[in-house]
Amino acid sequence: MDNNGNEHMQQRRPGQGSGKKKRTYVTALVANRAGEIFDLKGYAAVGMAGPTLAPLTVEETPPMPYGSELMFMPDRKPILYNMDKSRLETLMENPYAPGESIFPVAAFNSPGHLVTYVSAYKENENAGFLPLFSYGAVGWYKGKFRTAVIRVDKERRQDLRLMKHEEVVEGIQKMRQILPDNRLREHLEKCALEYGCPAGKNFFLGRYEAPLPTSPHCNARCLGCLSLQENDQISPSQERIAFQPSPKEVAEVAVEHIIRVNRSIVSFGQGCEGDPLLVADVVMPAIVKIRSNTTRGTINMNTNGSRPDVIDKLFDSGLDSIRISLNSFRQAHYRAYFRPQGFGLSEVKKSIEVALEKGKFVSINYLNCPGFTDTPEEVEALTNFLKAYPIQMIQWRNLNFDPGKYLKIMYDVGEHGTPTGIKSLLDRIRYSFPDLKFGYFNPPKESFL
Ligand code: SF4
Repeated sequence: MDNNGNEHMQQRRPGQGSGKKKRTYVTALVANRAGEIFDLKGYAAVGMAGPTLAPLTVEETPPMPYGSELMFMPDRKPILYNMDKSRLETLMENPYAPGESIFPVAAFNSPGHLVTYVSAYKENENAGFLPLFSYGAVGWYKGKFRTAVIRVDKERRQDLRLMKHEEVVEGIQKMRQILPDNRLREHLEKCALEYGCPAGKNFFLGRYEAPLPTSPHCNARCLGCLSLQENDQISPSQERIAFQPSPKEVAEVAVEHIIRVNRSIVSFGQGCEGDPLLVADVVMPAIVKIRSNTTRGTINMNTNGSRPDVIDKLFDSGLDSIRISLNSFRQAHYRAYFRPQGFGLSEVKKSIEVALEKGKFVSINYLNCPGFTDTPEEVEALTNFLKAYPIQMIQWRNLNFDPGKYLKIMYDVGEHGTPTGIKSLLDRIRYSFPDLKFGYFNPPKESFL
């Protein structure tokens, strides 16, 4: 940055050539101290991916998906592109209202959309951690918000338009009659109504995938854990389940969902719990009970994959699929985010190997952050993993964690080359592994093949 607050573009946009085609930029959005969001004429929105700063064009920003939310970012200054002067600038105040502080604005995009750039900003000194969301770049063009995303799943599983509050409440009343003494059913009411959890709502609506939270414990300490935080600057977004439901309670909820939903899925391992592998004494008999009632439905587990021996037994009991969360396939970077206690990447890979040997469906819940996930070192590590472990699916997820702090932690662990762009990462993986499914949601067993 020079003395006038002008930012020099650090490098060409990933994939950008030197062609002369005129670009149409989306207008920048900023917020004032009161949190009011407005567009800033003459400035284009800028996306950030580590060291890359890219003014956003209409072409690379689809209209903001329904259900997305706009957020302003405190303790931070927006980096914008001054279109008259053709340069990047870090603004301390509103150029049209001198003295008025302005802040960057980002979008928390609705499920199924992968962020390609985060909103560009510079942290103030001693800036606190941002809350546990992803901070996608967003702009304004012809009366519409547009965001830097790629849609990775077309299913409307978590489309809020199909999850009406009155119908959720109606579903809750019905379930109270069917499962009056079930504590898990009661817990899911809180998930659906207080936390607005789409999976919880879907249980009461009788759609797609129902959650089966069971574990109050975990053997990792993820930086972005939604249900437990050691960092007192970050509030967990959900309260971790405080009790262990019995196998009977779990099976009742699962069977109730399976018998009334076509192509249904029931999943252990939710945002409001620890890791289900730590309560195998509940999960295993619950799976056996479900399967003694019905062969229908997909029984899935979302997990950190830390215990291959337990996973082996769960598959023998009737588990159909697993989804394992990972931010990186390099030990140091994995450890820096997951902070695993008593396990490491080798155990996680062993779990995947066990599942593949048994012919089970394996997804990776791949936590993406532009500027890290798309660096050459990360792309190479992912590619090598996929060659060695022919898993069936990647669920491309946005990392819900302060992007600036995350990049610093990851870059401190090891140097990185220039990010090549999230789109180019997706294109490359699709080209190299044409049979690998891309998506966002756990699939039912009917579409495993
Ligand atoms: S594995 Fe899941 S429950 Fe455990 S710390 Fe990480 S995010 Fe939290």
